[in-house]
Amino acid sequence: NKTEFRNFPMVPRVVYGRGSFDQLADILLPKRKNSDAPFIFLVDDFFQDKTLVTRIPWLFNDQIIFVSANEEPKTEQVDALVHKIRQDFDEQPSGVVGIGGGSLLDLAKAVAVMLGNQGRAENFQGWDLVGRPSLYHVGVPTISGTGAEVSRTAVLSGPQKKLGINSDYTTFDQVVLDPDFLGSVPKQQWFYTGMDCFIHCVESLQGTYLNAFSQSYGEKAFDLCQDVFLGDLPKKDAEEKLMMASWHGGMSIAYSQVGVAHAMSYGLSHVLGIKHGLGNCLVFQHLNAFYPDGVTLFKQMLKKHLIVLPTGICVQLSDDQLDEMVHIALAMDPLWENALGPKWKERVKVEELKEIYLKI
Ligand code: NAD
Ligand code: ZN
Repeated sequence: NKTEFRNFPMVPRVVYGRGSFDQLADILLPKRKNSDAPFIFLVDDFFQDKTLVTRIPWLFNDQIIFVSANEEPKTEQVDALVHKIRQDFDEQPSGVVGIGGGSLLDLAKAVAVMLGNQGRAENFQGWDLVGRPSLYHVGVPTISGTGAEVSRTAVLSGPQKKLGINSDYTTFDQVVLDPDFLGSVPKQQWFYTGMDCFIHCVESLQGTYLNAFSQSYGEKAFDLCQDVFLGDLPKKDAEEKLMMASWHGGMSIAYSQVGVAHAMSYGLSHVLGIKHGLGNCLVFQHLNAFYPDGVTLFKQMLKKHLIVLPTGICVQLSDDQLDEMVHIALAMDPLWENALGPKWKERVKVEELKEIYLKI
């Protein structure tokens, strides 16, 4: 019996540095198929009235589409964008550029995949269901923590489930890491999205799937998170380190998995629409039984940055809703297996999860 090792794609090109966004014009130029094959820029609508817009290197009939990140990306939103782009242009675009946080990065990845394939996005949620290459796509993160800039998934909410399009074609062809973008991120959001990275590290490093590959990235990201959230760095240094922490955190989970906080956060997101970063924080604070050291550090970080997490979120849930949350969480088999090992079903009890949810 030969062991099958998973063969992962990585982002083949990345540029890093303050102001590197202005290099995008030169990066895109050789990728332009002709003047009728546009680049589609999907941009977080936070930037709609900001000077960034004047720096987007659009040419010919390129299109800039502003998208709100208030809700996490949906399969039908991807389908609608793909439909619009196909209607607006006779030619297949030269590529897609996503500018924003995890929401916009995932949206751009999904649109690029679907422009290269036929059908509805919901049919591609899962593992390796994408048959044909995506369009060339570029990611420009403007907030750091999710690792969406390096990962091989585009997480979407569909009619049936919240699940990523996980495929070799999902990963970006090019990423632009420009820490200048992080300057405008509001404090709370900075913390929630940054904690996504911290929690990725804890879950990966404490997980049973860990190997030296994941560990090397996870430990680096973990150290960077401690510098950023518990150190006293100048703001710009902290921005730069968090951008690299997110990158390493994403690389770490490529070859391992996330764990209990993510599984339970999916339940919160599915039933109450709570966003990923906040959801992870809400759950993680109560996971002493699973990640005692990580939770201690997390509480120090909350305190240092005077972050008060919302409370009373689950008290009004009906029994059915609570059951559904637990059901969604427990359906994430690989996450539990990573957290607790192959016999995880013996170790995790429905009542225990309900108790945790009710504390939130
Ligand atoms: P986000 O994209 O949801 O954005 C959060 C908020 O920050 C929005 O209001 C946005 O407008 C604002 N924002 C972004 N950049 C800003 C800037 N420079 N200045 C001011 N405001 C700014 O945030 P996120 O936490 O990065 O992403 C969450 C999403 O990422 C979820 O949909 C989650 O499912 C996904 N995710 C994906 C992966 C992956 O591997 N693909 C991993 C983890 C999470
Ligand atoms: Zn996450």
